[in-house]
Amino acid sequence: MTDRDHEVVLLMGPPGAGKGTQANLLASERGLEQLSTGAMLRAHVQGGTELGKRAKIIMDSGALVSDDIIIDMVRAELDRMRPIRVLLDGFPRTTVQAEALDALLASFGAGIDSAIELVVPESELVRRLLGRAAAEGRSDDNEDTIRTRMRVYLDQTRPLLDYYAVQGKLRSVDGIGTTGEVFDRVVGALGAERA
Ligand code: AMP
Repeated sequence: MTDRDHEVVLLMGPPGAGKGTQANLLASERGLEQLSTGAMLRAHVQGGTELGKRAKIIMDSGALVSDDIIIDMVRAELDRMRPIRVLLDGFPRTTVQAEALDALLASFGAGIDSAIELVVPESELVRRLLGRAAAEGRSDDNEDTIRTRMRVYLDQTRPLLDYYAVQGKLRSVDGIGTTGEVFDRVVGALGAERA
């Protein structure tokens, strides 16, 4: 297996930036498996597992679930993938998670190819999240939780953009526009390197 068999792309950005939608499209376009830690946690909540019961309280508050739980979940998924061809959506969210991911990938002879940041102004994010609350009824999309999630993003996750920028892996993409317009920009940002 050569390094080219592996491909690891991160989709980053604040809550409401459109990570889930773009991750879906990009994963099928590039033949990558989409791993969303938020979706995995929501599946636990729906399944009524112990982890789900503990996670729901934290998710509803807008805070982050503990690094250990998240890293274990991601490790279990990457462990069964060979080659590793993955699009990570909503992970990593802390420096501890980013360092754990690097170590995990290195142990498989893989590494991160690119980190795409979807850039959307905060006023637009709040508008989108409140709209999603009405449409999907996600219990962590109410106004208080949205504010907490935004603050958590700025404090804990945004610093990771620098972590990837200094490695030359960050691609910032304007996240305003139709799904198709944003997707074209995402593909354009990635296209230069591997395709
Ligand atoms: P998301 O669907 O990515 O917005 O995630 C929904 C919620 O799940 C977040 O607000 C966190 O409580 C939790 N969560 C998802 N991914 C992570 C992660 N990588 N680290 C910690 N908590 C997470």
